[in-house]
Amino acid sequence: MKVIVIGCTHAGTFAVKQILKEHPDAQVTVYERNDNISFLSCGIALFLDGKVADPQGLFYSNPKELKDLGADVEMLHDVKSVDVDAKTVEVEDLENKAVTTESYDKLVMTTGSRPVLPPIDGVDNKNVYLCKNWHDAQVLFEKAKDNKRITIVGGGYIGAELAEAYSNHGHDVTLVDTNDRVMSKYFDKKFTDKIEASYKEHGVNLLLDQRVSKFAGDDELTITTDKGEIKTDMAILCVGFRPNTELLKGKVDMLPNGAIKTNDYMQTSNPDIFGAGDSVAVHYNPTGKDAYIPLATNAVRQGILVGKNLVEPTVKYMGTQSSSGLELYGNAIVSTGLTMANAEQQGVKAREVVIEDNYRPEFMPTTTPVLMSLVYDPDTRRILGGALMSKYDISQSANTLSVCIQNNNTIDDLAMVDMLFQPNFDRPFNYLNILGQAAQAQADNQ
Ligand SMILES: Cc1cc2nc3c(=O)[nH]c(=O)nc-3n(C[C@H](O)[C@H](O)[C@H](O)COP(=O)(O)OP(=O)(O)OC[C@H]3O[C@@H](n4cnc5c(N)ncnc54)[C@H](O)[C@@H]3O)c2cc1C
Repeated sequence: MKVIVIGCTHAGTFAVKQILKEHPDAQVTVYERNDNISFLSCGIALFLDGKVADPQGLFYSNPKELKDLGADVEMLHDVKSVDVDAKTVEVEDLENKAVTTESYDKLVMTTGSRPVLPPIDGVDNKNVYLCKNWHDAQVLFEKAKDNKRITIVGGGYIGAELAEAYSNHGHDVTLVDTNDRVMSKYFDKKFTDKIEASYKEHGVNLLLDQRVSKFAGDDELTITTDKGEIKTDMAILCVGFRPNTELLKGKVDMLPNGAIKTNDYMQTSNPDIFGAGDSVAVHYNPTGKDAYIPLATNAVRQGILVGKNLVEPTVKYMGTQSSSGLELYGNAIVSTGLTMANAEQQGVKAREVVIEDNYRPEFMPTTTPVLMSLVYDPDTRRILGGALMSKYDISQSANTLSVCIQNNNTIDDLAMVDMLFQPNFDRPFNYLNILGQAAQAQADNQ
């Protein structure tokens, strides 16, 4: 069986390893246009913040490892086209420009995503940068050395992390977003109010509810928005990602944004083509619908599933809650599933309870408040989403809520489910039980 894998960051790396584990005799060829594999982009902000002692630690695999497992790894090779009828790909060797045509029995599309470049006048200005891969990380690191004023366009996770990283190192940081709250996709207002307060405390200039319309200038960059002008040294665009799927446009089913649709076994509408990671749509469990949620969490799981299902459907994809988290100025901020604002936008009937409680008893030498929210369906009482924020590490509690959503648990389940008690860690009822009980009290008062 000849297998061609296009793209080798997370989905590709995991797919290759699993294919060779399940089918040691398969002839697997990997084409990667970049000069590295398996780069953890989630480490970029940490790297810029000086928290990564050795950036090589941001790679968890390398071409040699995949070669030793039996793959033919062709780095700096760009796949130019796919002929799904002839089952061939046309590949260019980026070093010697030679173009060859190679055949496959099974094709794996792990071509991921690229940053959205909005159609803004001057978006190609030399002082406007992107943040996606190891190359971008190195450029951002070097450029920041000579540039004090840095403007981040886009206040999602990535923009939020970059703003923190640069503000920790004496830069004058401005964060611009068209939304009137930072990270509005992931957190409701009680959370984003706190997050915005901590940015202001650290000197970050927040320009919310305004749209960038122009970049101009040579040494000094002028960013025009619908509310004014920003004078800055460099800008970083963090306004989202788009699937890299032009190779299969019109050849397999896709969402309107180009994310490839797959079945539960990561198989596209063409049975010989599989997809995983940022190039494909995911099944979003809170709504039961397809969605585009480019996260490494999905990429690694789907990569494994490609390997398991390549020859026959074996293991189903469980879908995702889009669980994610970040740390800003010492606060862990985590979420899973729907926020109340998302639910409203998507027409999902929902209610939200928000409480704050100390994670462990006050008689302990210290304790710390945890801000928590739970979004649930008021009719079925099913949990649809949740978020937590604290100086205490509550990150694993988002994972517990993720499992609750995955398993269709209700607020009543969360209120009473067995959780350990010991005063070092929590109260007789864990703070998640208390969150479930608050939701019960709210739901019962209707
Ligand atoms: C700054 C940043 C922080 C992030 N933080 C997190 C986080 O904390 N948690 C999390 O879960 N996710 C995070 N993500 C998202 C995560 O990085 C992506 O979801 C993940 O990289 C997707 O992996 P992938 O393999 O599907 O695609 P990609 O990482 O996009 O890789 C696709 C690969 O395909 C190659 N390729 C594309 N087209 C071709 C072609 N025609 N020929 C040859 N090669 C090709 C590309 O060069 C690339 O190497 C972050 C992303 C960024 C940018």
